[in-house]
Amino acid sequence: MSSPQMSSAAAVSYEGPSRNGQNRAESPYLSFKKEVVETAQKLTEKGFLMATGGNLSVRIPERHAMAVTPSNYDYMKMVPDDICVLDLDLNVLEGDRDPSVEAALHAGIYKTRRDVNAVVHTHQVCASALAVLGVPIPALFDEQARFLGRSIEIIPYAPSGTSFLTKRVVKAVKSNNNAYIMKNHGVLSLGHYLERAAHNVEIVEKVSQAYLLALCTGKKVGKIPLAIREIAYAKLRSDQKKSARGEISTRGE
Ligand SMILES: [Zn+2]
Repeated sequence: MSSPQMSSAAAVSYEGPSRNGQNRAESPYLSFKKEVVETAQKLTEKGFLMATGGNLSVRIPERHAMAVTPSNYDYMKMVPDDICVLDLDLNVLEGDRDPSVEAALHAGIYKTRRDVNAVVHTHQVCASALAVLGVPIPALFDEQARFLGRSIEIIPYAPSGTSFLTKRVVKAVKSNNNAYIMKNHGVLSLGHYLERAAHNVEIVEKVSQAYLLALCTGKKVGKIPLAIREIAYAKLRSDQKKSARGEISTRGE
């Protein structure tokens, strides 16, 4: 739950004047920017985003663009004016702050996966343990296969903010899963809309925690039956195809 202090800060930030105090015309991207701020703050309150680590974005389909969090800025201080709007070639359409150093990675995913309308990148703890071990997660739970895909694969390491990392991510996401672990780094959760991507962050952490605990016992870890995994994955693929055709609202309605 949020503290009263956090709730009142968020309420003021949405309705108050812009950061520099000027009366700007209302942004055509305001609803996207608000959604990014609200989701970033919810994920911070739940402990999935820490300090300024991680980043998230939402696709703006009609402009072939995205709204993405700024670089190195406290999520709990963030207001919609702080969010950067970039086209998918990374030209700035709106925003004064520097965009996340991983903006190219987000754009690369949107260009590669038409079904993806939201990307959340976190440094969440249990999944990060598997990231440093380089251990992928097989299909352990029905819900995991339904929303994240056949497995949570490891994307090979490349330094943050580099084109090497973007290339590796773009190659990996062609497997059509909706969550990936980046070696020695963190997690990428994808979704048809931002709320779904944020839910996927939570599923990744629950699955990672259970898998780590199970591995610690040294006993054999059981997977779900292959047939069940494939039925669940087929539902995800069906959703992905609908999303790619624009048949799932990007606002999660
Ligand atoms: Zn990161």
